[in-house]
Amino acid sequence: MKPLFGLDTVALAARMIEMGEPAWRGPQLAEAIYRQRLTELREITTLPKAMRPKLTAEGWEVGRPRIAKVFCSVDGTERYLVQCQDGVTVETVWMPEGDGGEIGDGSDLDATDKDRQGGIAKSWDRATICVSSQVGCAVNCQFCLTAKLGLQRNLTAGEIAGQVVATLDRHSVVVDRDRVNLVFMGMGEPFLNYDNFMGAVALLVREVELSPQRMTVSTSGIVPGIERFAQEPQELRPKLAISLNAPNDLIRQEIMPINRKWNIETVMETVRGVKLRSRERITFEYVLLGGVTDQPEHAVEVARLVRRSGLPAKVNLIAWNPGPEIAYAMPHGEAVERFRETLVNAGIPAYLRRPRGRDIFAACGQLKRTVEGGSE
Ligand code: SF4
Repeated sequence: MKPLFGLDTVALAARMIEMGEPAWRGPQLAEAIYRQRLTELREITTLPKAMRPKLTAEGWEVGRPRIAKVFCSVDGTERYLVQCQDGVTVETVWMPEGDGGEIGDGSDLDATDKDRQGGIAKSWDRATICVSSQVGCAVNCQFCLTAKLGLQRNLTAGEIAGQVVATLDRHSVVVDRDRVNLVFMGMGEPFLNYDNFMGAVALLVREVELSPQRMTVSTSGIVPGIERFAQEPQELRPKLAISLNAPNDLIRQEIMPINRKWNIETVMETVRGVKLRSRERITFEYVLLGGVTDQPEHAVEVARLVRRSGLPAKVNLIAWNPGPEIAYAMPHGEAVERFRETLVNAGIPAYLRRPRGRDIFAACGQLKRTVEGGSE
């Protein structure tokens, strides 16, 4: 069956015309699948009764990816195995109250508590959804469990956006009321699946009506992707995070082989080509590996690197999350705090991302379709 989910209003209207139906059925379908979040043709009561079986007979279904399995952490985080039409599963993570990664980039500023204004009791005031862009990943960062899968396939725009809509649906999120941030930091390198990634962003902005200013995409430093990203119109462009993870090229190429292709300076130079909104910052993600990237001299180097870049920036520190088959050590708590202080004292805003859902393998770098952990 062919999925309607993934087609925007214009494409849906074109399909309707091909079927001999009026073009305005397109917007009607978009309303049903993206805003009412209906998943079955028979539920779309705005369509004439006879038209629903006709769509099925022509090989169409809504075809939104579905949450096939849920792992619940003691900290409220939920990890989902989201199943695509061909049976492939990817991971999506729901983090009520976020993980601190959004602090300092403007997303946390409009703290008017719309949830309470709406008078609806919820167990969360804001939330972050971590979205996957590929099945597995080819980038091979040495500290990341997803890398162990290798790249299995790219996700389509509908499969990427579908993770978000399925999660919004599960938590009955009201888009213009609730504060939900998206981070494209799950499985995969979004900029190695650029067209589908930006296609998903366009669906999420234009059809689901989420703000791109509440979305952050993280890249390991794929320079051609950053160059294309710099050309995107502001009304569609998410914020940008660079997965830096090391104070210099020598260490970075050890833990992120992609650095041999595009080194830190090349990445910085390309990022300078992105025209930022007022008050927007570039986020540098930095995974602290015990004894490898968490030393005091590394913090001094990172501060120098960020200052020299000339970019309005902040640094998000992530204490490495252990995973099987990966021979790194967690950093000590004092090392993490000292690292953060060094950056802050050098005038670089630096925040510690709270590890979320470690017990269910939902934390950063742990996504590998692990089927154990947590309660379902
Ligand atoms: S950290 Fe990201 S880019 Fe690197 S291997 Fe893991 S999923 Fe891929």
